[in-house]
Amino acid sequence: MNGASRADRLEALVAEAELDQLIVGDLVRPGDSGPDAIANVRWLTGFTGTSALAVVGPGRREFLTDFRYTERAAGEVGGEFERITVEGRLIPELARRLEGRVGFDDAATSVHSLTKLTDAIGDNAALIPTTGLVERLRRAKDEAEVEAITAAARLADEVFEWVAERGLAGRTESEVAQAAEARMREHGAQPAFPAIVAAGPNGALPHAEASEREIGPAELVVIDMGAKLDGYCSDGTRTFATGELGEEELAVYELVRSAQAIGLEAVRAGVAGADADAASREPIEAAGHGDHYGHGLGHGVGLEVHEAPRLGKTSEDVLSAGDVVSVEPGVYVPGRFGVRIEDIVVVTDSGIRNLSGTSKDLRVTG
Ligand code: ZN
Ligand code: ZN
Repeated sequence: MNGASRADRLEALVAEAELDQLIVGDLVRPGDSGPDAIANVRWLTGFTGTSALAVVGPGRREFLTDFRYTERAAGEVGGEFERITVEGRLIPELARRLEGRVGFDDAATSVHSLTKLTDAIGDNAALIPTTGLVERLRRAKDEAEVEAITAAARLADEVFEWVAERGLAGRTESEVAQAAEARMREHGAQPAFPAIVAAGPNGALPHAEASEREIGPAELVVIDMGAKLDGYCSDGTRTFATGELGEEELAVYELVRSAQAIGLEAVRAGVAGADADAASREPIEAAGHGDHYGHGLGHGVGLEVHEAPRLGKTSEDVLSAGDVVSVEPGVYVPGRFGVRIEDIVVVTDSGIRNLSGTSKDLRVTG
């Protein structure tokens, strides 16, 4: 990126939005943020703690944290930022530093925090709502980010193999999910989200969580899991069989597999997210399963497991090089079974690179 830092690129975007400054960070629970809520600060500054806000504008790079994180910030936050340790709460100190047209992210701000901020700012500052400016920049992953996501995906591949080798039938969904998550932790990763293990009729609920139901002897089992390594997530789904399947289950498996392959072909720089979705959806609709596919083709993956861009019917995003996205069509036959196959890929100048390595041949695990 020609040596322009992330903050430099954000400054350019702030100017483009006709703002003087942008507040970056979690204004829902400032001081006690979860990893997703504080992902923008992490991306911008390198800070991995749970309490920080940043301000970026022309000539301004300010990073605010509290006393618990002074030392960590000194080690993590780049020298271009002025590091400020706040006595007490973050918002009053933040408010004191704002002037001109100040953007805040309306998707990351509670009414409560906005009221406090509005009460505390000076007459020379005006708060302007914006949405997802940092997220827009976060889309284009650099080499180190792609490497981290690739490592997380490899680890998940290893766990898929391990889970399949141990067999699924006779164990409960939640046993399998917990074992998979424990395996990730043994390898030094965190689960990026609670693993989904959904067998038989539960597989027809696209967002099923792992239940106490025992997995049967001839069922389809949807397993959706991701690892988080160095802050970066992977996301992948395979559907396994625990025994000999019926004709319709086999046909739907092959249908989803081919729709997924079409989705992978469609995901290219310059292609609209809605068009990639439509290409992959077409064979599913043609087979009469359009009503059994209620979600979009995919989503961006990075510091968060769901981030920009979106690939779906109503998406207005256009893919570009550096995007890391999931490609995950599914068919969910109510009361009976579901199939979903999900890879994550990085969009390159010349095509895509698939970061998911687990085979998509139907695997019978027993
Ligand atoms: Zn996904
Ligand atoms: Zn997934």
